[in-house]
Amino acid sequence: MRLLVIGGVAAGLSAAARARRLDASLEIVVLEKSGTISYGACGLPYFIEGRVRQAEDLVVYTPEYFRKERNITVRTGAEVVAIQHPRREVQLRSGERVHYDRLVIATGARPLESAAQANEFTLHTIDDARRLKQFLVEKRPRRAVVIGSGYIGLEAADALRRNGLAVTIYDRNRNILHRDDEFLTGTIRKHLEQFRIDLHMGCEGVRDGADLVILAQGIRPNVELAAEAGVEIGRTGAIRADERMQTNLSSVFAAGDCVQTINVVTGCPAWLPLGTTANKMGRVAGANATGARERFPGIAGTIIVNVCGLAIGQTGLSVAQARAAGFDPVHARIDSLDRPRYFQGKRITVELVADRQSGRLVGGMVLGDEGVAGRLNVIATALQNRMRVDDLEMLDLCYAPPFAPVWDPVLIAAQQLKKV
Ligand code: FAD
Repeated sequence: MRLLVIGGVAAGLSAAARARRLDASLEIVVLEKSGTISYGACGLPYFIEGRVRQAEDLVVYTPEYFRKERNITVRTGAEVVAIQHPRREVQLRSGERVHYDRLVIATGARPLESAAQANEFTLHTIDDARRLKQFLVEKRPRRAVVIGSGYIGLEAADALRRNGLAVTIYDRNRNILHRDDEFLTGTIRKHLEQFRIDLHMGCEGVRDGADLVILAQGIRPNVELAAEAGVEIGRTGAIRADERMQTNLSSVFAAGDCVQTINVVTGCPAWLPLGTTANKMGRVAGANATGARERFPGIAGTIIVNVCGLAIGQTGLSVAQARAAGFDPVHARIDSLDRPRYFQGKRITVELVADRQSGRLVGGMVLGDEGVAGRLNVIATALQNRMRVDDLEMLDLCYAPPFAPVWDPVLIAAQQLKKV
């Protein structure tokens, strides 16, 4: 019995590792088209910045590790060009055919626009980052344009600024981070100005005059291979799989950035390609490929990014998104301190969004220097458990001066929202 996995990063390797843990006798083969597996793409901006010294430091495991420690065969430079499901085999670019009994598709996503000029770069793979780093070292560019204000565009802008470049960000959307939130856009704009990063929203990128251009307009799922094999594609454009990560084809599972899931707040299909989701989906797909019955419950849409020292965390829906999803949103936004004033407390902003009729929490945002992740995770947990504002207000959250004020900012925001 052979489990074949296409894609050797977060989702694919999580699937392979989990399958091995549950079934010692399965033959497991991972096919990866590039030369590098198992790296933290999330660390790429920090390699550009210089905090991570070498690209190799981002690699977690090697094919040798998987062979020796896990009895998993990982083949690099092995691009799958077709899946022939009736025959249960895939075809590689070299012409070789590889048989499978169970298949996990974990082909990830790719940037919407690829780099066409010598000074244009995407920041999606470890090879992209190596190329960009080399350009920075050899050409010493002074002026950078970043197209796209999603989290990768923001992280890239910050990394380039720290390398001494003057950075301008352009985005054709009106609001930053795809959040549809004017307050958030305004706050980040002011913050970026302090670091001399210009932000132009609602307009196309002007590339003329830039020494270096980062293309970060977004990504699209790699679904062509799956679609040609008859795998159903969902309305987001990503592969449709059930909560067991099973596609419409028997014995074919899918995980990671190439797959859509359910937004637990709206109950609608959602595609939010993130490493944290890819790992969990991969784990579930790998388990179920061995015959287990595990489920992936969906996402709340939790995301955090640090831009020039400001941590920006969001989960669930903004007010505008909640309205568009059919809720009747009410919100409260409070400014508080992340610790008592006598303990050098710093400003933190918490926003909560709820549905007026049901009192159910539908979204939240946290901005600040420190203590943002923990508070965002509380809100995300509340969303996933469909909690109401009433439930939130009296949560038994921790308190001691080095960590939090006696009324945690999340509790203050919940009290405020209840008044509204
Ligand atoms: P991928 O990592 O894209 O891996 C898919 C693999 O499949 C690729 O290696 C590809 O070469 C291979 N492949 C594709 N087609 C074929 C084929 N036909 N044959 C063989 N192999 C194939 N997420 C977070 O949660 N937090 C973060 O802070 C964060 N920061 C990020 C920063 C950057 C700059 C980037 C680029 C991403 C970041 N992410 C972050 C997202 C995260 O890295 C991805 O969600 C995650 O890597 C997805 O894993 P995956 O395995 O689904 O896809």
